[in-house]
Amino acid sequence: MQNQTTLNSMADFIEKHAATWQELSEAIWQKPELGYEEAAASAKLAEMLQQQGFKVQKPYCGLPTALRAEYGRGTSVFAIAAEYDALPEIGHGCGHNLIAAAALAAAVALKELLARENIPGRLVLLGTPAEESKGGKVKMLEQHCLDDIDAVMMLHPSWQTIPDLGSTAICRYDVEFAGLAAHAAGSPELGLNALDAVLMLFNAVNAWRQQLPESSRVHGIILKGGVVPNVIPDYAHCRFFLRSTDEAWMNKMTARFLDIIKGAELMTGTTATVKPSMVPYQSRKPNQPMNDAYIAAVQALGLPPNTKAKSSRGSSDVGNFSRTRPGIHAYFSISECEIPGHSLAFAQAAHSDLGQTNMRKAAAAMATVGYRYFTDQAFRQAVSEDFLRA
Ligand SMILES: [Zn+2]
Ligand SMILES: [Zn+2]
Repeated sequence: MQNQTTLNSMADFIEKHAATWQELSEAIWQKPELGYEEAAASAKLAEMLQQQGFKVQKPYCGLPTALRAEYGRGTSVFAIAAEYDALPEIGHGCGHNLIAAAALAAAVALKELLARENIPGRLVLLGTPAEESKGGKVKMLEQHCLDDIDAVMMLHPSWQTIPDLGSTAICRYDVEFAGLAAHAAGSPELGLNALDAVLMLFNAVNAWRQQLPESSRVHGIILKGGVVPNVIPDYAHCRFFLRSTDEAWMNKMTARFLDIIKGAELMTGTTATVKPSMVPYQSRKPNQPMNDAYIAAVQALGLPPNTKAKSSRGSSDVGNFSRTRPGIHAYFSISECEIPGHSLAFAQAAHSDLGQTNMRKAAAAMATVGYRYFTDQAFRQAVSEDFLRA
């Protein structure tokens, strides 16, 4: 059971210092920085954590814009993850400024309570760069960033407040076809058309998707399809994303995708080269006890969850975190109505008063989950057992 007094105390503390969290959120929002270029955002977060009495390591895991801040003593280690990268063109259209602010608010509120009540426990804030398509967390995991951490939690803004309902794994491929150039009118019989191979691949994928389960997605773009119409393209390049909530389906999809590429080769006489364009992300494995604790807390703070929401078909590098240690990537609402992610409307919501108000409530809920992790042995046990389930 959650302790209402603890929750109120976290919420009061976070409300009282609202200007501090807003200062970080605004600074990041006003100066959007792309993945691995988040110099100002990561420096400001590190500085604020240092001022609050955290021991900060930055750079961390060999990444200049990654950081680790730590407070406390003891054997249990609970981590809060922060992101702060932006998107090209639309700035904070994913609201990562609010992720950083929520992480700071929750970490400081939790630290204050641990100190006041003299509770043992090590609280870590991990600053994880380049979530958008570059996989900063995967790089950090390669450097063992979760080795001494027992559980990890993160919050993300959304149009709705929901627990972590999982996400898709993603595999990204660059497919290049090599053909033979020839005059398209004068000597077409001497050519091998690489663009045709790409078109065959797209048509086959479009037919194939009808037989895919709802939990899977496949989508692509053409990056290069020739130079001029009167030269048969000897080179064409496309990029595809394959996604599924189910790892077994992802394996099946990958095998079929490679078969389709072979088919396109055979149909056109071209030769394909297939390379991953990015490291794969795993699907998220939500931790049920942590989800329940978060939802009970946000509900008590007047942020009602949408109980009809479905699992996301998006993907994130936090999936790899959730397969390494128990954790959740839960959401809080920053909009009165449904708005798409990665949009200008979302960037505006990430800069709104409602965004700030709800971020503070969600941060208090996250701090309460951390407090419970440090103080409730049965909860810790339940979190570990849930992580070990198949
Ligand atoms: Zn995003
Ligand atoms: Zn995001």
